[in-house]
Amino acid sequence: MMAQYLRIKAEFPDTLVFYRMGDFYEVFYDDARKANALLDITLTVRGQSAGEPVVMAGVPVNALESYLSKLIKLGEAVAIAEQVGEVGATKGPVERKVVRVVTPGTVTDTELLADKQDSILLAVASTGARAKPTLGLAWLSLTQGQLGLAECSAEELPSWLARLSPAEVLVDRERQPAGVLVARLPITNRPSWQFDTALGLRKLCEQLGVASLQGLNAQELAAAQAAAAALLSYAEHTQGRALAHVKSLQVQRASELLDLPPATQRNLELTQTLRGETSPTLLSLLDSCRTGMGSRALRQWLLHPKRERSEAVARHDAIATFLSHGFEGLREALRQVSDVERIAARVALRQVRPRELAGLRATLLTLPALQSQVPPSGSALLQSLGDGLLASPHLAELLSRAIAEEPAVLVRDGGVIAPGFDAELDELRGISQNCDAYLLDLEARERARTGIGNLRVQYNKVHGFYIEVTTGQLDKVPMDFQRRQTLKNAERFITPELKSFEDKALSAQERALSREKALYELVIDELINELPALTRLGRALASLDALAALAERAATLGWARPEFVPQPCIDIQAGRHPVVEMRLRETGAGEFMANDCRLDARTRMQVITGPNMGGKSTFMRQVALICLLAAMGAYVPARSCRLGPMDAIHTRIGAADDLANAQSTFMLEMTEAAAILHGATEQSLVLMDEIGRGTSTFDGLALAGAIASHLHDKCRAFTLFATHYFELTEFPVRHTQAVNMHVSAAESGDDIVFLHEIQPGPASRSYGVQVARLAGMPGSLVRQARATLEALEAKAGEAETQIDLFAAPPEPPAAVTEATHPLLEALHDLDPDALSPREALEQLYKLKQMARA
Ligand code: ATP
Repeated sequence: MMAQYLRIKAEFPDTLVFYRMGDFYEVFYDDARKANALLDITLTVRGQSAGEPVVMAGVPVNALESYLSKLIKLGEAVAIAEQVGEVGATKGPVERKVVRVVTPGTVTDTELLADKQDSILLAVASTGARAKPTLGLAWLSLTQGQLGLAECSAEELPSWLARLSPAEVLVDRERQPAGVLVARLPITNRPSWQFDTALGLRKLCEQLGVASLQGLNAQELAAAQAAAAALLSYAEHTQGRALAHVKSLQVQRASELLDLPPATQRNLELTQTLRGETSPTLLSLLDSCRTGMGSRALRQWLLHPKRERSEAVARHDAIATFLSHGFEGLREALRQVSDVERIAARVALRQVRPRELAGLRATLLTLPALQSQVPPSGSALLQSLGDGLLASPHLAELLSRAIAEEPAVLVRDGGVIAPGFDAELDELRGISQNCDAYLLDLEARERARTGIGNLRVQYNKVHGFYIEVTTGQLDKVPMDFQRRQTLKNAERFITPELKSFEDKALSAQERALSREKALYELVIDELINELPALTRLGRALASLDALAALAERAATLGWARPEFVPQPCIDIQAGRHPVVEMRLRETGAGEFMANDCRLDARTRMQVITGPNMGGKSTFMRQVALICLLAAMGAYVPARSCRLGPMDAIHTRIGAADDLANAQSTFMLEMTEAAAILHGATEQSLVLMDEIGRGTSTFDGLALAGAIASHLHDKCRAFTLFATHYFELTEFPVRHTQAVNMHVSAAESGDDIVFLHEIQPGPASRSYGVQVARLAGMPGSLVRQARATLEALEAKAGEAETQIDLFAAPPEPPAAVTEATHPLLEALHDLDPDALSPREALEQLYKLKQMARA
């Protein structure tokens, strides 16, 4: 037995192996020690193997799911070795085989998956020069049956990782891309040869059933194909079979998506709060979906908004149609719907449970009612989704005939196939079910024949059927009774007639069970033939649910339809921050103050000043959230909203040390700002909150001024620039596309009242001391601060010298400009990071030669 175990373990050296032994899965040696540490299960030592004591630990079979769930959350993978041979069929131990490997990115068990989030497996291949690689990404949601491909540079990788948020990342053991390690995701190393472009191309074509990837726009993505090779091999390996349901491929290009860098996703609290909770966030506010499928679709729409806006407009049309026709009927009907998407995947992997099929049947039966709730006209999208609900009637009919009304949890328990579906099964079941009547009849006949009034015919698991006679009556027992067992006050017998009945009954039960298993597999075969229809149905349900939820939110929260225009502009009237507004409403802390925002080709930047707590951050975030909501196809929290084209939302907000990546607050601030200045274009929205606060006043002020100038003159991005540096209110004087705005506050005695209203012009002062007073600072401290402030202000007034913060930097002296010497020009063109040592040496010789010339 241990030899068999060690053979299996050798195939899965990096994976915990759960080895089935009767009612337990056992783990041995180092696996046992690991399981002991992770799962807190007891270690035991039993016997010896090769002279060493066998260290082991076990988990009961019926508690497997809960242990798996713990391990998956910890990023561990588990190989499950089941008994596949018949007990006693051969000499030696029963044959065992790994039937599946459960890993964080490939789980499909409903119990192990979050309802509202997909589990994504991602492979990253690194190709080209090591210093400047092209990264190929291939990802798979096994439960959705969807593949994705993309390519990006090392700098773009963090955005992709944040957007996809994979549960597991496969990397080349020999070439791990640094970005993956930094993101601290669960990594699985795979051998280099699996990241092979030719293999990937072949596997993708096979998987999708196509001759080439030309029509799918993926032919030239060599790096992504290399990643796909590793991805598909691993997914098949873990499932122990081909992936019949994975039939669709999405090729994503960064240039097609509205760019939401990780900082933006974090700062806008899209799916997680800054503290890492899932609520309150934009997604938690939006998600009133009735099904897990809908919630997952909504998350996908939110994190993958497209720059091109036809998809968003189609969703706006659908929401408008729901708002005029009503959506509650549909949402009510959706409550009855099972997770068709996941059931379809589990059918394809032959893992589907009887109760899931009963759920699917119930869903299929409600489809006509559901369809009647989809508005008949007004939105082409809704119409096509409504048509997608007409899955083949054959399926509902098959499941109604085949699966019992309330099937058992597991096929091996029996009672899964409905009566009337199969004559042979009915007959076998008839035999075991008619037992009771037969036994009563036999009992009556034997009592009459023997004259033993208290003779009883009974059954137990150990001894089977028997006739029990109490000791006092033993003299009446006839010759054909054979003794089976002697008890204290009774004897148990068997007769030839009872023996032959027993053989028939017990074998009928066994045969009925194996017949049921075979029939269940046949039902799965039929369902597999219908997979495309099931997958289409799952998608239609998911989209309908998500759209109806967006309509419900729009109606409940008073949101408006955004309008897209071709001219550059962000024109929001009476916009609100949806999450802050909700919090104010829930806590009864007051009304949210709606604000306008107008940016266009002539006014590209707002410099926003005003007191702490005044609402600057809230205002800036709400503008970004409204733009994002519009782009994903939702209505927006505003009275009206017109938006021009947009390619990215960049944010630089807040201060937090990134100690794990060895970055101080200020370094992080500058790194993020640098990334924005490099990436922002005329079509980007940039939020800069309090830039320059992490260093000394003069440094910070100087940097903030230079950054504002760069954004205004070079990037020309739409920018909201909140600052405490009053000096920056001078900025619009020299920069024609910038305007001053401020959040209003009113003084009442020593106190300050925040009006949260955004108004034109600079703030008159910053009220820091008043806010400190509100925060409960001791009175003496506040008085001291006020006195110091007055003294500082008086001094600053006396020594007023005008420094031009925004003047263009002086040109470097002529002697060092590049044009003057070819040597400098050549040096400038060199990228040391992209050179091999040998190339570097060659360049050095060349430069020396140029210097001599
Ligand atoms: P600081 O400069 O200290 O970061 P701030 O000006 O950025 O402050 P916010 O953080 O945006 O201020 O807002 C502070 C609080 O004021 C919010 O948490 C919210 O409760 C309230 N608030 C902000 N804007 C509004 C508004 N428009 N209507 C009502 N309340 C608001």
